[in-house]
Amino acid sequence: MGLNFSPQNLYRLPWNLADNAISWLEPTYACNLYCDGCYRENRKASHKSLSEIERELDLFASLRKSDSISIAGGDPLVHPQIVEIVRMIRQRGWKPIINTNGQALTKDLLLKLKEAGVWGFTFHIDSYQNRPHWKGKNEIELNELRLHYAKMLAEVGGITCSFNATVYPETIKYVPELVKWAQEHIDIVHIMVFIIYRIATLDGLYDYYIGDKKVTFDDITYAREFETRRTDVKSEEIVAEIRKVYPDFMPCAFLNGTHLPNSYKWLLTGRMGNKHQIFGYVGSKFMELVQTMNHFFTGRYLAYSHPKTQRRGRLYFLLSPFDKGIRQIAKNYFKSFFSNPKAFFNRVYYQSIMIIQPIDILPDGETNMCDGCPDITVWKDRLVWSCRMEEQLKWGQQARVVPKAKELVETKEQKQEVEAK
Ligand code: SF4
Repeated sequence: MGLNFSPQNLYRLPWNLADNAISWLEPTYACNLYCDGCYRENRKASHKSLSEIERELDLFASLRKSDSISIAGGDPLVHPQIVEIVRMIRQRGWKPIINTNGQALTKDLLLKLKEAGVWGFTFHIDSYQNRPHWKGKNEIELNELRLHYAKMLAEVGGITCSFNATVYPETIKYVPELVKWAQEHIDIVHIMVFIIYRIATLDGLYDYYIGDKKVTFDDITYAREFETRRTDVKSEEIVAEIRKVYPDFMPCAFLNGTHLPNSYKWLLTGRMGNKHQIFGYVGSKFMELVQTMNHFFTGRYLAYSHPKTQRRGRLYFLLSPFDKGIRQIAKNYFKSFFSNPKAFFNRVYYQSIMIIQPIDILPDGETNMCDGCPDITVWKDRLVWSCRMEEQLKWGQQARVVPKAKELVETKEQKQEVEAK
């Protein structure tokens, strides 16, 4: 698979445990949907009090720099004090980003959240959510719902609009069409996030230990006894799929794994264009400039910029001397004067595409997490990976994954070698 990108030519995002672009707050574990790949158990009576949330924000403030606070859960819109929570975060100088399935979002609530200082929404919409009125709809049919929320935000204005979808092996084929849909609405859709499906399989390959005590994982919400679907899809495969529609799709930055430096745990692509044409993809130098300049002037790395900066694509041409990607974008743009005048005379937008590859369990049992995890959350007085919070809640620590002796054998040949002995 000719990727033509690698850790050598991508910008390694400078995000780390103490100085990151995002932190992750869960004001509740309650949700109004039951998504297939969810990693949080849906606990109805779990709304945190404002003082508990204040304590968690204090901990973030004391241990970690961040630009934005992702407010998640469960679904934060079911928390009765979500407007106050947004106000608390905004008053501390962070950008409140609400991660929601959108079910509970009304125009009235949106206006209250806007007044309280909400900076953006990330709508989690995919075909494995058992969503009332949308059951059985595939990813393409769900674009109607995505557009509904994008227009709702655009009408109010000044709010960043992102969509995320869990990508299952059987829905990978829809990803290019979702990227195309995002181009058609590049004026009101600022970020698309694809999160690759992961589940802890209880198929006898591994045992789980807390300290020296073997534990059962079967009541952990992200564990599954019988899972025939692949649980090891890689970011590169999603890029290869997108390239079926956008052959020159090119990431610019990444977060590696805690064990595999050449694993693309967060793989970021920035593109510029409009609904008539994508002029190209920003390069690693552009992203390095954006992150370091933002940090130099604000003391923080950047996760979510304001919608108005997304609309100023041509302004970024000024950075052509520093970035190969921008030079190519500018070249394609000026060429479009002859080849595609509609594209030339239309506004040029910036749009981000993020691919997230959660936990990889390696043959030796090591867990390859995201190095510089942006979705770090609070557990008691510590910062932990939100994707493994269920283990914290159950055992006060993450389980150690230990391969059963026989399964340490990585490849079939080795297997045969062992069996031949
Ligand atoms: S380590 Fe887990 S919580 Fe952190 S970014 Fe990766 S998948 Fe998300």
